[in-house]
Amino acid sequence: MDFSWSDEQLEFKNAVIEFARNELNEGLIERDRDGRFSRENWLKCARFGILGLSFPEAYGGTGDDILTTMLTMEGLGYACRDNGLIFALNAQMWSVQHPILTMGTEAQKRKYLPRLINGEIIGAHGMTEPDSGSDAYSLRTRAEKVEGGYILNGTKMFVTSAPIADIAVVFATINPDVGMWGITAFIVEKGTPGFSVSRDIEKMGLRTSPMGELILEDCFVPEENRLGPEGGGARIFTSSMEWERSCILGSHLGAMERQLETCIRYARERKQFNQPIGKFQSVSNRIAEMKVRLETARLLLYKVAWLKSQGKSANMEAAMAKLYLSEAFVQSSLDAIRIHGGYGYMTEFEVERDLRDAIGGTIYSGTSDIQRNIIARLLGL
Ligand SMILES: Cc1cc2nc3c(=O)[nH]c(=O)nc-3n(C[C@H](O)[C@H](O)[C@H](O)COP(=O)(O)OP(=O)(O)OC[C@H]3O[C@@H](n4cnc5c(N)ncnc54)[C@H](O)[C@@H]3O)c2cc1C
Repeated sequence: MDFSWSDEQLEFKNAVIEFARNELNEGLIERDRDGRFSRENWLKCARFGILGLSFPEAYGGTGDDILTTMLTMEGLGYACRDNGLIFALNAQMWSVQHPILTMGTEAQKRKYLPRLINGEIIGAHGMTEPDSGSDAYSLRTRAEKVEGGYILNGTKMFVTSAPIADIAVVFATINPDVGMWGITAFIVEKGTPGFSVSRDIEKMGLRTSPMGELILEDCFVPEENRLGPEGGGARIFTSSMEWERSCILGSHLGAMERQLETCIRYARERKQFNQPIGKFQSVSNRIAEMKVRLETARLLLYKVAWLKSQGKSANMEAAMAKLYLSEAFVQSSLDAIRIHGGYGYMTEFEVERDLRDAIGGTIYSGTSDIQRNIIARLLGL
């Protein structure tokens, strides 16, 4: 087993760290407080090549392999404290760009991918509905076949980037009687009559990543905007969720590494009872746990990236990585607050935000309970 990175990969990671540190953190406390998305920072990331990581050069991507992509995301999470921005970038990459790349027609790929990757347009992914979340395939949005296309009716809930999206990959059923086999994916463009965003949804964390509801009311979508075959939506969703679970938390590794360094520094500097707090075993043990958690998470994630780079299935490993990393980030964020005491609880010290952001990770792309279900099912239970 070879865990070493090439000089080129490490140089790229360092370049991302430098870029993110200098360009992406300014005004974050205010943006988080106001729930404000930064289009400017989105474009900076696009120009840097983040959205094109692991996508083919033919469509404007960098053509990097998945391991390099993961390492880059780790660097981004380490230096960019705006978890909301990173989350929104990842959501577009794995649940909009990736399905278009793998299931889209050549015309769809040429039409959408270069503009998504260069930041000109933004994409959203609408699966969840008011009455279906974990049980995604019980969705109610209908697609009725008509001359030249489909009429869509339904509502999509908790859609990341909905308020700023130019296109949305939306899932609907063409026949509810056949369950998941009726689910079909469509690319719906902003401005299509009958397609609207109802409201901005305010949330606990990831506040710089806008969220909204998508409404489809007698919305005609032409045949050429169907993504993949009729009834192929569940397969598209499963595949994009596996990619999302594998890659979306790469940045968490970087964020946990940053937390660890911050806590070590603080534990050395902060004195109580005439000694650095790091000399108290309660504090140093907590930091030791943070380190073990980080390195365990790293191994799980690198294994998923390696399996993917070999073209192997990583169903079980992706679910384990998603479960472990998201919960580990919550725990490390909580530890970081405890180590910083009252300062950790105060907004201006920028420790507490990570906890609010981290909790989202235990819900999106399948809750922790659902990841456990996947693992148990694959174990034959
Ligand atoms: C930050 C964020 C971003 C999101 N972005 C998007 C997006 O871009 N597009 C999109 O379509 N959706 C998005 N979602 C929605 C997300 O996918 C759903 O919230 C998630 O799948 C859970 O569904 P739910 O909220 O309906 O909860 P429910 O499914 O109602 O679950 C409620 C509780 O019951 C538990 N539960 C449910 N079923 C089971 C079961 N079988 N076994 C054990 N426990 C179970 C859950 O774990 C949870 O604790 C996002 C959510 C968040 C928080």
